[in-house]
Parts: sequence; structure tokens; C-alpha cells
Amino acid sequence: MYYVSTRNKEQRRTAAEAISQGLAPDGGLLTPEVFPKLSQNALESLRDMSYQQRAVYVMGAYLDDFTASELSGFADKAYGPDKFDTRAVAPVRAVDPQTSCLELWHGPTCAFKDMALQMLPHLLSASLVKNQEKKTACILVATSGDTGKAALEGFRDVDRTRILVFYPKHGVSAIQELQMVTQEGGNVGVCAVEGNFDDAQTGVKRLFSDPALRETLAGRGYFFSSANSINWGRVLPQIVYYVSAYCDLLRDGRIEKGEAVNACVPTGNFGNILAAYYAREMGVPIAKLICASNANNVLTDFLHTGVYDRNRTFYNTLSPSMDILISSNLERLLFALSGKDDAAVRGYMEQLSAAGRYDVGEAMKARLARQFAAGFCGDARTQDVIGAMWREKQYLIDPHTAVAFDVLDQYRRETGDGTHTVVVSTASPFKFCDSVLSAIGVSRPAQGTALIDQLAEVTGVPAPAPLSALKGKGVRFRADTDQAHMADKVLELLN
Ligand SMILES: *Cc1c(COP(=O)(O)O)cnc(C)c1O
Repeated sequence: MYYVSTRNKEQRRTAAEAISQGLAPDGGLLTPEVFPKLSQNALESLRDMSYQQRAVYVMGAYLDDFTASELSGFADKAYGPDKFDTRAVAPVRAVDPQTSCLELWHGPTCAFKDMALQMLPHLLSASLVKNQEKKTACILVATSGDTGKAALEGFRDVDRTRILVFYPKHGVSAIQELQMVTQEGGNVGVCAVEGNFDDAQTGVKRLFSDPALRETLAGRGYFFSSANSINWGRVLPQIVYYVSAYCDLLRDGRIEKGEAVNACVPTGNFGNILAAYYAREMGVPIAKLICASNANNVLTDFLHTGVYDRNRTFYNTLSPSMDILISSNLERLLFALSGKDDAAVRGYMEQLSAAGRYDVGEAMKARLARQFAAGFCGDARTQDVIGAMWREKQYLIDPHTAVAFDVLDQYRRETGDGTHTVVVSTASPFKFCDSVLSAIGVSRPAQGTALIDQLAEVTGVPAPAPLSALKGKGVRFRADTDQAHMADKVLELLN
């Protein structure tokens, strides 16, 4: 199977090439030419497999340059009991007869990014060998909070890789920042950037397309790669958990064979919900994809009007991992829904970078409306939902997950759609202790990492071990910069 750029489908690459490059040189996103199909029988045979076995099956369909035994080794390492605190890896919790919650935060950094970033380093290392690449991969990451830590943890001390993470100085939670600046490992670097996530992301994209910087680093034995969700090696492991959730629902008798479900996904860069879209392309019976946003509701407007317009106020919200106005992975959806019209996608992306806006027109808008629903939820509602969920169901959820529950509620009230829905839970509530404590009515929050113990004490819900372990860790990284000087930081860190 080959991979093509969303901006030029003539140039084909193998999976190993796509994974080690991260981004196509023309700025497009590398995407499979075709999507393999899972039959109903395949879904039934997956039903009785472990998460790791399901991962091998699904990923194997896309990675024909990798052997099953290679993939099986990666899956065991990525999703083993030393990394995930539950054997289910991505357990599905029953909320009510019509609603399930797919918990994606049982990994080492307590956010859904682990699902992909525990796997990507294995895929990347193997890809370097397959490509006979002699240089060291320098992974550049822009993070809205969770990716950075998950990437650092996934790549720490992985051979022939270096990793540099840029995070918005005032755009991440205190615990997220502490997780990053205390990161251990000999090949890691962390730097704060003035501005918001889009500034950091735009800065990183600029580094990627800076020929002089590439050349200097090539002289030092490095090439750039990406661990952001633009890398196919990030999106692919995310398809697995949608397949897995469907199999769990079947296995547990929550749905009938062939029954379609909706998926409601708290969305930022559009990677997670895109994986759900691809799972449906493969044949998983998914009816509506419900895209949930916070006050940064650029995607809600896009899905309702066909106009993507980033010219709007940026809000720092209680769900910071969704504080994004440029959703990179939307480009892959546009490529798919336009029938792989690379010229059209190139045009939209040029308009986005020149004017901050593009209009996909009526035909595409109709296609979007058939498959997607969208809504958003502000901070006040987010807090209410966390509080209500705790009081009524003793289920402690984080602000991102709360956004999804609220948007699902709005959707059901508007449409009356009674389809069984999987709400995707993207972070542990312990990553956002201050918001969660105030939402459940604790008015005097503790300070710093004592918040973690406080939330555990007040609720009786045990804190995840990796977060408890933050207490007493030393800060290793204090560097900061602005967008204009990010290249200098790269050169400094890779000397
Ligand atoms: C990254 C993240 C999101 C957004 O996911 P995308 O794939 O960027 O749409 C939502 N919630 C949490 C907790 C995240 O870390």
C-alpha cells in the first residue's frame, strides 16, 4: 500500500517512508491511497482478541512493509502492563443503556495521546532501518499540552532519535507543564514559546520547511521528523481503538451484530475524530461522527456552513488541548471527501495561509452534513457537566470529556437520535485537578501537586500513579523563546 500527499497525489511513498518523513515536502499530509476493509466476520473474530492483537490486525492492513511479528512485538511493548494501568488498555465504560465512554487515558501520561505515542517510536525506529537511513531523527513537536509529554515519554532514550517539544508558555495546565519540564531521558529537550498553541504549531511548521536549517542539521547528522498528528504513524494507532471499542460493545452485548453506533469526540487538531472516520471507511458501523469543540468553535462553524474561518478571537479555556484554531488533520478529511482532489486541497490550504479562510462549497458541505454533526460547549457548561456527572453517576471526568458529553446532550435534544453513542474520554481528570475540584464544589483548592492528593481524597478515586509520582521531581527545563527564534533553540539543543 502506498501513501500520497494531500497536496500532490502523484508522488507515492511506502509506509516506512511516510512514517519517517512525517510531513510531505510540499507541506501536505501523507495519507493512504486506499482504505482496507474489515468484514463483519473480521470484526467478529477481533471481538475475542486482546487490544494488542487487535492493534496488530488493524495496523497490519496498512503497513505491508512490516511483518506481523514485528508489529506484535511493538504492540506488546507499547500497550503492556508496565505502560497501561488496565489490561483492557482502552476500556469501554457503560454510562447508560444508550451511552458508553471509551477511556483513552490509562497510559503513562494519562491522556489519549499515549495510545499513538507509545506506538509511534517503534514504528519510526523500524522505518529508519527499513529506509537505510543513517541520520538521527530529530522529532519536533508543537503541543497544546498533552502531546508534548506523551511524545517525550514515548521517545525517551529511543535509539537514533532526539526529541524537542515546544509548548505555549501560557496555554497549558500547571500539571501539564510540570510533566514536561521534569521529563527524564538523554535525548529530550523542552522549550516554552510566547503565544498560544497556533503560534507554537506555526513556528514548528516553519522549522520543517526551512531549507537552510535542514541543511545545517543534515551536516550535523540530523533530519526532521514529526510526532504531531500530521504523522501517519500517529493516526493509524488511533484507528485501532475505534475498532476495539466496537468489538467490546459487541462482546459485552451492549449492541447487536451490525448495529451502528455514533462516536462523539472532543476535538482540537482533528486527529482523533479523523481516526474514527477512517475506522468507518474500513467498515466499522459508525453512523454519525459528532465533533465536540469548546469556545474555540471554528470546527462547529465549518461543519455547519462549509466555511473555515480562523479569523476570530482565540480563547484559553478549561479544555486547553482543544484550544486550536487551525485543525491540521482536517486536510486529510478534505482530501477524502473531495475524491482525492489534491489541487482543490492545495487551493484551500493556500487560502487558509493567505487569508485565514476557505469555503468548500455546497457539494462538500452536503457530504460533511451527512456524516458529521457538530457542537460546542463553553467553560461554564463544562464545569456543570463535570459536577452533574459526579453527583449523578459517581463518574469523574476531565473538562475535555465533559465538552463531549455536553455536545452529545445538545445533539440528542436537537435530533432525537437514539443511536448508541460512544463518547471518547481523552484525559484523566487528575490532569486538570483545579477545574475538576471547583466543578465538584471544592472551593479551597490545594497548591501545586498537592491538588492531586486532594482530588483523590475528596472523591475516593485513586490518582494515576504517574501523576502522583510528579511530587518531588526536579525541573530540568526552563528555556523559553518567541516564534521568531525557535530555529536558534533547535540549533542550540542539537549541537
Ligand atoms: C489532543 C487532545 C484532544 C484533541 O484531539 P485532536 O486529535 O487534536 O482533535 C482532546 N482532548 C485531549 C485531552 C487531548 O489531549
